[in-house]
Formats: sequence, C-alpha cells, structure tokens
Amino acid sequence: MLDSEFFRRWMSATAVSVDREAASLTALDSPIGDADHGSNMQRGFLAVVTTLDKEPPATPGAVLVLAGRQLISTVGGASGPLYGTLLRRTGKALGDADEVSEADLAAALRTGVDAVATLGGAAPGDKTMLDALLPAVDALGDGGSFAAARAAADAGAEATTPMLARKGRASYLGERSIGHQDPGATSSALLIAALSDAAGS
Ligand code: ADP
Ligand code: MG
Ligand code: MG
Repeated sequence: MLDSEFFRRWMSATAVSVDREAASLTALDSPIGDADHGSNMQRGFLAVVTTLDKEPPATPGAVLVLAGRQLISTVGGASGPLYGTLLRRTGKALGDADEVSEADLAAALRTGVDAVATLGGAAPGDKTMLDALLPAVDALGDGGSFAAARAAADAGAEATTPMLARKGRASYLGERSIGHQDPGATSSALLIAALSDAAGS
C-alpha cells in the first residue's frame, strides 16, 4: 500500500530531477517553443516541495491536490494548468483514504490524464505531454509495474521527435516542429521516472 509519505517522496524526487534537467528541458523548448519549460518546471516543483514540507497533508489524495494547486498558482504558461490539473484530478480520484493500492493509483492517474486531454484538447500523436503520460498509464493499468510505466513514458517521449505538433506553441511552427523531442513529454517522463524511484523500482 502507498501512504502519504510515498506521495511526498514522489513529488520530491520529481523536484530533484526537473532541477537537474532544467537546462535540457529549456533547450528542448528553445527550437519549438519559448525556452522556458525547464524554469517553469523548476519553479513549480520547488513551490510544491516547499509547501508539502511546511504542512504535510495526511492523505495521498491531499498531497496531490495541494501539489496540483501549487503548480497552477506558480507556473504560468501551458504546462502549469496542465500539470496542475493532472495532479489535482489524480488526487481527487484517490479520495481521502490513508493508504491506496497500486491499482487505485493506476485508476486515479488515468482520471488525471483524461482531465489533461479534456483541458488541453490534445489527442495521442499531437506531440504533447500526453504522448508520454498515456503510454505510462496504459502500462500501469495492465497490472504493470512502475518500472514498466517508466519505460513506456521514456519511449513515448522519444517517439514525439518525428511528430508534427498540433497543440501548444510548437504547433505554430507546423512542419518545422518535426525532428525535435517535445519538452512537456520529456518532463512527463521525468515525473513517471520519479514515481518509479519513489517506489524503489
Ligand atoms: P509554454 O508553451 O506556455 O511556454 P511550457 O513551455 O512550460 O509552456 O510547456 C510546453 C509543453 O506543454 C509542451 O511541450 C507540451 O508538451 C505541453 N502542452 C502545450 N499545450 C498542450 C495541450 N494543449 N495539451 C497537452 N499538452 C500541451
Ligand atoms: Mg515554453
Ligand atoms: Mg512560456
């Protein structure tokens, strides 16, 4: 079973890895965006960890709802509301249980990812964060491990390179968006990798 401590570990591990990868996330956002994705993620997850440390929520759901709120209020641009919605809706779907199972988390993440698709209007193959998140929740939902979800998210992020962007800033470039890995899909793979790290897998 996964307790609130596990979910705080997940958020901390994400903060550490987006901090470490900030320059490369921003470099990915440079040819097909406005070169701020690394700093957006860094600022957002620093705020998440600071808030969670100050007043640790008692339940898994409350950890993710608070984290999502922090992202929405500290990150401007497309990724703040999208990641904020992902965590907030995943947290709401977990309810107020003290501990949740891996299957509960898989189902809740599916709800969160669906909310991202609804908010942003993107479909698979549009070269967005969904191209990493959807394969990850598919892998997890099939009774798969966190490690399998991580591999699926990594492969999904890499698969965005030949895609033509249909949503977000990169879509303004049309054909010129082809040949670059999507920054948001790349940070989503970091989020899923951190989940696997938090689980020790
Ligand atoms: P901004 O583009 O506002 O500067 P960021 O650079 O922080 O925001 O985030 C860009 C990332 O957000 C993209 O790489 C993409 O993965 C994701 N994104 C943008 N628009 C959408 C959308 N409509 N649906 C899903 N993801 C999106
Ligand atoms: Mg940007
Ligand atoms: Mg921006």
